[in-house]
Amino acid sequence: MNRRQFLADLCLVLGGAGIAGLMWPSGAPGPSPTPAGSPAPPAAAERFDPATGRARLAELERLGFHPREAMFWEKTSDGRVRCLLCPKFCTLRPYERGNCRVRFGLENRLVTVVYGRPCSVAIDPIEKKPVFHYLPGSTSFSLATAGCLLSCRYCQNWQISQADPESLEAYDLAPAQVVETAAAQGCRTIAYTYTEPTIFYEYMFDTARLAKARGIGNVVVSCGYLNPEPLAHLAPFLDVMKVDLKGFTERFYRTVCGGTLAPVLATLQGLARTKVLIDIVTLVVPTLNDDEPTMTAMFTWIHQHLGPDVSLFLSRFYPTFQLRNLPPTPVATLERLRDLALATGLRYVYLGNVPGHPAESTYCPGCHKLLIGRVGYQLTERHISRGACAFCGHAIPGVWE
Ligand code: SF4
Repeated sequence: MNRRQFLADLCLVLGGAGIAGLMWPSGAPGPSPTPAGSPAPPAAAERFDPATGRARLAELERLGFHPREAMFWEKTSDGRVRCLLCPKFCTLRPYERGNCRVRFGLENRLVTVVYGRPCSVAIDPIEKKPVFHYLPGSTSFSLATAGCLLSCRYCQNWQISQADPESLEAYDLAPAQVVETAAAQGCRTIAYTYTEPTIFYEYMFDTARLAKARGIGNVVVSCGYLNPEPLAHLAPFLDVMKVDLKGFTERFYRTVCGGTLAPVLATLQGLARTKVLIDIVTLVVPTLNDDEPTMTAMFTWIHQHLGPDVSLFLSRFYPTFQLRNLPPTPVATLERLRDLALATGLRYVYLGNVPGHPAESTYCPGCHKLLIGRVGYQLTERHISRGACAFCGHAIPGVWE
């Protein structure tokens, strides 16, 4: 799809459906819970064969996914290339594809094939990210490419995160066009979201830099699986990074997510040394990561390493993808964990995926009055003035206007 068609689609859909929550997925299923009767999850990775890899790359080029040199890689002494972007550190032979599905080794270089090729684009309320302490009530131009570097068994967006880019249609949308469209639609931020933005780092980086120069904020919705150097390179252009802290044991990360915990904690600590606003989301999955001692240890770690003012969202799990055998998280479990988090000294602990619950709203840690009322993604009240509680003057961290 070219830019003209894209903008035409945008106007058509915006005119017919309004802005909030809109998603047009370019032939790809959108990031919503997997419907019953969905196709089977993708098969395990096959053995590498150079001829197949070369043919795949040719097919990608034919479809408009043009290889572009990646950032953060090095050559190895045996003629391969090693990706330094995320803690998977894939070492690839020519025409071999990385774990995230969107990077390939070539002779003497590493390439990305998804630069400027998002498979999902939407205009969302910023509350949907979820981000509650940055320009509440504003809209965020949101995009994702296919692929991911983790393989969470409960992924809500597995149709795009666990897909090869060539299996999905994609828009042709250069960074400047993203920024131009976001500005034209009145979006205050651009969100890199739905799949893991680390995998489309170059596209995100160029877009974020242009957006910043245009006065548009950047919100990264990430699993935090990003090495320190790329994080430091990107951070000056970011306003908010929402990090999924998916659990607090290596076992949970290994068995449920296909990753490890330690790099995520390192990312959070790295972010704490920057001015980027940090949000943390933990999806509470019954029997897998909901035990109170472990969660209390996690809350204590957050308080000790990131401070009391980080927003923490405890989100309700719904059965999906490869975890359809588990029930939704009982709301009472979420409420009990929230009480434990507040008891460790965290000041802004929210419940997610429980529309209408009082814990969707922001309360003043000083006088405990309601500051920002929310029902789902809608704001119902606002009582923050010049960054402080309108009742008692307690400073509230965030960017409010
Ligand atoms: S970004 Fe992709 S290619 Fe690079 S190390 Fe991570 S999974 Fe491997």
